[in-house]
Amino acid sequence: MNTISFADLNLAPEILKALAESGYITPTPVQAQAIPIVLEGRDLMAGAQTGTGKTAAFALPILQKLLPHASTSTSPARHPVRALVLVPTRELAIQVEESVKAYAKHTRLRSLVVFGGVDIKTQTPHLKTGVEILVATPGRLLDHVEQKTVQLNQVQVLVLDEADRMLDMGFMPDLKRILALLPKQRQSLMFSATFSNEIKKLSAEFLINPKLIEVARSNATAENVTQKVYLVAQADKHALLVQLLRGSDATQVLVFTKTKITASRLAKQLQREGVSADAIHGDKSQLERMQALDAFKQGKVAVLIGTDVAARGLDIDQLPMVINYEIPSAPEDYVHRIGRTGRAGASGTAISLVSPEEEKYLKEIEKLIKHEIQKENAVVPRQAARTESAPRGEHYERSHVPHHAAPKKPGHDPWFDKPYEPAIGATTENKQPERPASKPNKEVAAILVRRQS
Ligand code: AMP
Repeated sequence: MNTISFADLNLAPEILKALAESGYITPTPVQAQAIPIVLEGRDLMAGAQTGTGKTAAFALPILQKLLPHASTSTSPARHPVRALVLVPTRELAIQVEESVKAYAKHTRLRSLVVFGGVDIKTQTPHLKTGVEILVATPGRLLDHVEQKTVQLNQVQVLVLDEADRMLDMGFMPDLKRILALLPKQRQSLMFSATFSNEIKKLSAEFLINPKLIEVARSNATAENVTQKVYLVAQADKHALLVQLLRGSDATQVLVFTKTKITASRLAKQLQREGVSADAIHGDKSQLERMQALDAFKQGKVAVLIGTDVAARGLDIDQLPMVINYEIPSAPEDYVHRIGRTGRAGASGTAISLVSPEEEKYLKEIEKLIKHEIQKENAVVPRQAARTESAPRGEHYERSHVPHHAAPKKPGHDPWFDKPYEPAIGATTENKQPERPASKPNKEVAAILVRRQS
């Protein structure tokens, strides 16, 4: 359907050159639709989730529009902020600015990223030299405004990226303050993975006669992501996770937890068991988060465990698998989490471990994504399950099942520094275990039985 090329979109040769170097051949649907609208100067409301190529959808036409302002002058006055991209998290901020830099590398346009959690003084000198494209988290941008290290009176284009997340994270007051500092005469673009009523209200407030585009069905999850739910007692999740990791040939797995505490605890537990794992969440310093992410991207860490905040900015090429150790209570977060895999047309697997207590959230998710996710009852090897120390006083439902030994996976297991020892006393409830539909996986298949109800 989409046979146009980037050259058809009237982008300058220096931009096309950078795209070719990035390995982009054809525009993604959101790019094909958004780029002409932005070049035309219209406001835009785009429903596009992460992984669809939405960053280039706004960054490329912005660069094209700003090209006449590119200057070799060293005077800061010649490099005022002309495009402001507001994003909810530091990780996303870094990611977006990295993309902008890559697309702008053959132009004289400058970009910079500012976010909280790091010493503001380290950002000030860079801001003072002047930048045309500023990517910022709202709070830190306002700090710079207060310190008079940035001026926003020449902003021509404003982008609100992941606007739904901005609202979820309570950025509305900050956004209003920032918007009041911008010229009235400007172009505004809003990107959101979900189209809630709040988002519609925000767009009515901040956009003028916007063009609306929606590349995926509202609240749809990426079609190339195979989704699957394992129904499992909370206390058995750890053992099942270990089994899934052992059984998978994925080289990188992103695991989500609901809380920072669980993320840290799980990372430590997995490390103790010899799994190369690390946690990434808001309680860690920016340096620690960057180091964990870099190690994961470089393949030095195989399992990265994060909370929803971490979900937003992570752009890891070819991330094959996401596991929800706990499913989110806000169904939109599920869409965001699984959007970490299956990016830019690649296929991915998203597995959710759902305890009986979480089944109500699962129903909400299924309502939002408008389809039922394939479910399996997970029966976890007893010995492995016992290794998780359930918090005192908590009661967990366990499956009552006859004994049946778990299969041993032969050969070296890349997930584990220690040799893999099969859990003994693994059990199945039913004589006919089903193989998961997504990927042949003997170990998992052997410990799972299809839900009977
Ligand atoms: P985004 O949705 O902007 O986070 O982009 C998701 C991923 O797709 C990033 O890794 C981009 O580098 C990549 N990407 C974006 N546009 C294209 C394209 N036209 N062709 C190939 N990859 C792309």
